[in-house]
Amino acid sequence: MKSSRRNFLKIAGVSAIGAGMKPAADLLAASGGQAETYQHVENEEALSAKQWAMVVDMRKIHGAEDIEKITSACHRIHNVPEFQSKNHEIKWIWPEEFKHAFPSKSHEFMSERIAHMIFPVLCNHCENPPCVRACPTKATFKRNDGIVLMDFHRCIGCRFCMAACPYGSRSFNFRDPRPFIAETDVGFPTRMKGVVEKCNFCAERLAVGKMPACVEASDGALVFGDLRDPDSEVRELLAENHVIRRKETLGTKPQVYYII
Ligand code: SF4
Ligand code: SF4
Repeated sequence: MKSSRRNFLKIAGVSAIGAGMKPAADLLAASGGQAETYQHVENEEALSAKQWAMVVDMRKIHGAEDIEKITSACHRIHNVPEFQSKNHEIKWIWPEEFKHAFPSKSHEFMSERIAHMIFPVLCNHCENPPCVRACPTKATFKRNDGIVLMDFHRCIGCRFCMAACPYGSRSFNFRDPRPFIAETDVGFPTRMKGVVEKCNFCAERLAVGKMPACVEASDGALVFGDLRDPDSEVRELLAENHVIRRKETLGTKPQVYYII
């Protein structure tokens, strides 16, 4: 077997696990009968990296409408339900004010412009993720390319990972989410009551050669690439701009960077 093909199968296999993709019988149970659509497609076009990272260029985000475009692109393809009650809310990427996104950098004399900015926040795919250490079943794990994933089928709903994540990046399905999905995308598994979920850096799209949906919907505000590639666009942006990360002092090493 050619090494590129072997590498792809490795990447796609782990991606499939992280995206909740399972053998047919499991899938059927988990997806409410839509399993037959989750074919394991082999694709030589799979995108790979040594360390995936995202740069959010806030100079290109001009308010709530731009963020809504980004969040709805993600939530639509990942079957994220919409609950009226905040207590049941499921979110993979969501808007946050500066004082909540970057509490240690916020102060009463800061610029009005920054104080009123709304930031898209998501799982930071931390290099040193406390959520992974806290999970007793290894339902959440970090891939070699830095993506922190969930295997929904191994999640026992203990929520230790939620307690461990300092960013509120994880949501718990207190209710069966399926009746609250506006339009189910059969290309991605639905979840069930008692399962934790979060952003997966679009592992299922990378496996078929596509960029994350939020990146595609962002008109260039979100840039995604390999942090270990000195010629990548993310590296260029990090070299040329002052960037901040969320709660840097905690030592989790977030892989989402913000240009303000
Ligand atoms: S942001 Fe939270 S959920 Fe995501 S990797 Fe870091 S600790 Fe884990
Ligand atoms: S990377 Fe993919 S899963 Fe994560 S917020 Fe963006 S669209 Fe959603």
